[in-house]
Amino acid sequence: MKSIEYKGSQSVEVGEKAVPEVGPGEVLIKVAYAGVCGSDMIIYQGVHPRAKAPLVMGHEFSGTIVKGHSTLPAGTPVTVYPLLSCGTCDPCKNGYAHVCNTLKLIGIDCDGGMADYVKVPEDKVLPIPESLSLKLGAFIEPVAVGVHAVGRSGYKPGDSAVVYGAGPIGLCVASCLAYFGAAKVMVVEANPHRLDVARQLGFTPIDAVKDDIRAKVAEHTRGRNADLAFDCAAHPSVHSTILDILRVQGTSVVVGSYKKPPEVDLLKVEFKELTLIGTRVYTRRDFEVAIAILQSGRIDFDRLLTVAMADDAPAQFQNLLQGSTDAIKMLFQLGQ
Ligand SMILES: [Zn+2]
Ligand SMILES: [Zn+2]
Repeated sequence: MKSIEYKGSQSVEVGEKAVPEVGPGEVLIKVAYAGVCGSDMIIYQGVHPRAKAPLVMGHEFSGTIVKGHSTLPAGTPVTVYPLLSCGTCDPCKNGYAHVCNTLKLIGIDCDGGMADYVKVPEDKVLPIPESLSLKLGAFIEPVAVGVHAVGRSGYKPGDSAVVYGAGPIGLCVASCLAYFGAAKVMVVEANPHRLDVARQLGFTPIDAVKDDIRAKVAEHTRGRNADLAFDCAAHPSVHSTILDILRVQGTSVVVGSYKKPPEVDLLKVEFKELTLIGTRVYTRRDFEVAIAILQSGRIDFDRLLTVAMADDAPAQFQNLLQGSTDAIKMLFQLGQ
């Protein structure tokens, strides 16, 4: 089978590999599409704390069952809940398996979906409706990140929100807010193309370079400021405004991963009685809600997806690293 394999820092190769042999409790999936995540780019740069070469990356993918599932027949369209939790640590035992003390992921800690076939434990397989395309099926995972982030934020119907960053996660958070009925969803972004996509999806764009972010948020909320802010950019500049654009007792949610600790003015948190919240990955329930959101067709997620052929993976990883592509979410087509 064809596989896209991480071989070492800035090295990805497309090669031939044996189809995985499934054991008891394992399911073989023929992959259709596999997305490239920010964490895959960290692996590609050789700085991921856990991932070791050689590795087939890919934790956001769709495909069809080949064999091994006890109830779902061959040909069933599926996605995979990629979290591997230990089941015995304190968070796992208390209902927080998604923040397991030793959380691992399919596609980071073991071979994942960037190959024609992948084997996964049966309990990680989630069927997807026939009416949902396999292409959108590979985007369930990022939408689930948005569902989880909005769920964590304490969002109430009619709230207004500012999302920093119009990458896949920022746009998924914004889309979930819109789906759940937010009054106003503003998206702060420096990249003109991404800002334009945010506008096309129906969000209120705020140019991080040209606009006065504080003034724009005040204007769009009639001076009230935002109920919620989501930091999906994890850029040092975010903290110069994110606490200012919130109303008194507003909530700021940390979604993106900071490479270095940012400077945060905790005096603002104190004086405005703000709440700071963290959010990490998703639960299985978030996957189910994400499937419903995608299936509803209310948000044009297809606009975010760029499909590339698996053979182009080495070049596409370089393009993503250099920022020389307009792709918001790059998907590799597999299983041909
Ligand atoms: Zn991901
Ligand atoms: Zn655990």
